[in-house]
Amino acid sequence: MHEVSIALSLLDIVEKKCQEEGYRFVESVRVRVGSASGILPAAFAFAFDAVKKGSLASDAKFIIDVVPLGGFCNGCKSHFEMEGAFVLECPICASSYFRVDKGHELQIVEMEVN
Ligand SMILES: [Zn+2]
Repeated sequence: MHEVSIALSLLDIVEKKCQEEGYRFVESVRVRVGSASGILPAAFAFAFDAVKKGSLASDAKFIIDVVPLGGFCNGCKSHFEMEGAFVLECPICASSYFRVDKGHELQIVEMEVN
């Protein structure tokens, strides 16, 4: 489960940032996870819950915004979004002449500290 190692690095970043800015607790962390990032949101939330124990984020709320897979198709000149973790053809016109530009995200959107 690579979500555990990702949760650990996230916790590390969050704790450092919290300390650097002179705060004592992390109250919430909001992250953005792309559906094509290979990270399972449920497993990620579970992993974060497990690794946060005893840390500055031990009571932190963990919010995950899932970003759908999306891209731009040169065949029909449209932006598309879709379910699932990969795309083989444009869901609108079935062209394979497209570029994926959304869905690989893994980023901290905001965090609240105290
Ligand atoms: Zn298309």
